[in-house]
Amino acid sequence: MHLPEIVLPADPMSDPICVHPCESVAHRFTARAQRALLLAQSHPAAAPSLQFFAQLSQLQSENAPPEAYTQLTPTPPPQAWLDRITEELHPLPQPAEAPNLCPNCSSPPQLGILKPQGDGHALYLACALCRHEWPYSRKHCPNCQSESISFATAPQLPGYQTLTCDSCKIYLHLLEQSKLPGLIPEADEIAAQPLDIWAIENGYHKLTPNLAGI
Ligand SMILES: [Zn+2]
Ligand SMILES: [Zn+2]
Repeated sequence: MHLPEIVLPADPMSDPICVHPCESVAHRFTARAQRALLLAQSHPAAAPSLQFFAQLSQLQSENAPPEAYTQLTPTPPPQAWLDRITEELHPLPQPAEAPNLCPNCSSPPQLGILKPQGDGHALYLACALCRHEWPYSRKHCPNCQSESISFATAPQLPGYQTLTCDSCKIYLHLLEQSKLPGLIPEADEIAAQPLDIWAIENGYHKLTPNLAGI
């Protein structure tokens, strides 16, 4: 699959939410499709999922009809998955009721981003629906907010950490912005599949499955 090269705005993720189709939303989906294809080359273990995600993102950039998505998979995708794709194109603002939920749309986080701040890193959670990022405590679980959290890494995945919680048994990946040049969080998160396998084998479940189904 070959996608045209595009010139991105300085920070496409910071664009205000708008109703699709609009140029910035189309750019966002095209950019993440390109990023997923690039990552598929350097992360063979996650390549099928990244290629699937690239096709999905390309359809989203074209505002494709629902039937187009059903042709992406050998079996009909669950309605909840199709609903989520549609909602991602038209995220509705809803005030959040808890610090671990997106302040824009109240959805749970997909992942965390560690951004350089002072001598260390600050944690931002990234929304699974509208992709908004908001600061969050590094000491608390992004689900149950307990302090029973640990972090795992894998030598083949520099720049990735997996946060696990032994209180509610969730996990999610944290991406170190400084070690992942060109980072597009929702695409880069899919490349962490070896850590997904480790977490699942150790009895954890992902807080929010990504759009590739993991
Ligand atoms: Zn959101
Ligand atoms: Zn927890």
